[in-house]
Amino acid sequence: MKMERLMHDVFDVTDELGPDKVIHISKPAAGLKAILVVDNVAAGPAIGGARMAPDVTLSECARLARAMTLKNAAAGLPHGGGKSVVFGDPRMPSPQKERLIRAFAQAIGQIEDYIVGPDMGTDERCMAWAKDEIGRAVGLPREIGGIPLDEIGATGFGLAVAAAAAEDPSGVKLDGARVAVQGFGAVGYHAARFLAEHGARLVAASDSKGCISNSSGLDIAALAQIKSSGGSVVDLGKGDMSDRDAIIAADCDILIPAARPDAIREDNTGAIRARLILEGANIPATEAAERRLHGRGVTVIPDFIANAGGVICASIEYHGGSESQAFAAIEEKIARNTTEVLARTKSAGMTPRGAADALAQERVRTAQHLRRFG
Ligand code: NAD
Repeated sequence: MKMERLMHDVFDVTDELGPDKVIHISKPAAGLKAILVVDNVAAGPAIGGARMAPDVTLSECARLARAMTLKNAAAGLPHGGGKSVVFGDPRMPSPQKERLIRAFAQAIGQIEDYIVGPDMGTDERCMAWAKDEIGRAVGLPREIGGIPLDEIGATGFGLAVAAAAAEDPSGVKLDGARVAVQGFGAVGYHAARFLAEHGARLVAASDSKGCISNSSGLDIAALAQIKSSGGSVVDLGKGDMSDRDAIIAADCDILIPAARPDAIREDNTGAIRARLILEGANIPATEAAERRLHGRGVTVIPDFIANAGGVICASIEYHGGSESQAFAAIEEKIARNTTEVLARTKSAGMTPRGAADALAQERVRTAQHLRRFG
């Protein structure tokens, strides 16, 4: 009983879906301290990123692992969900980081139902080191067969696909739509770029330094150039400058939170003018905020439906597919899921989050029933 309560305190997500296993790794000689949570493997070996930060926790790792179970199941991938965290400063000198990642890879080498990918604090190079050690990793450099998902804009492409599939149910037509992006990084930039191909225009963009807006449209390529040389969106000029959080209230049709968790909360939903929200970041809105927006008639496409482009791309890479196959799979899966989630939202009177959760959980449970030991 006491143990049960402890498990619940540690994991908000301990239930019949998982976690399948939790592994604490400590190799003092290598300076390695890490945690791996394999949440669920009913659909196949878990795919999930390795996050490196000094202050990561078991609870965070478990929540992220569950989110991957739902995301991978919703996307219909032959993979379960997992996540790992490595304690350390991701900006440590490269030789030290290489030693740490190689030691981490060795430590998870025997856990064959976990496939590691990049996440905050780790990148393609880290995945190349992991692959070199244990023969499996996703999110690899192009030179060793990888599909560089941030470079090609896999997640941003998926967001645009979701927006296209939501045109009728949300009433937001992409041609002429005004778009605001919070967090003009890999996800936000490519989302703006792909939406522009449908005739939308970027009218506001923010990053950690501030927000810039221009109702006639911002130059997306120029913004990307500034960001890739280490600048901020506010360096663009040719627009109105404001505080970074002003983006939430931007006068737009589509808002894309693509920066941090909980950017949209009950206390700021009143300021939102968009009619469609595409969740680019993971958990960028609280559930209470999502419910309130739903009540106001704002369509919110939940994170693990809208931002699954990256993991779909990783899965295609793992199975030896090409870049064009990755784009085709993202298009097919995200369009179908967005349509289904919004149809269920209407027919069952649920929020899109509720509909997406139900859809993903049904798929995990079906996969579990097909396994001998669930
Ligand atoms: P990134 O580092 O390339 O870009 C993040 C951007 O957000 C940067 O421009 C940064 O300046 C900005 N930012 C940071 N704090 C901010 C704040 N408080 N307000 C406004 N802007 C802020 O990261 P990314 O790869 O684009 O990922 C963005 C988010 O999406 C992350 O939460 C990530 O976990 C999530 N995500 C990424 C992918 C992917 O394929 N890259 C897939 C799914 C989810």
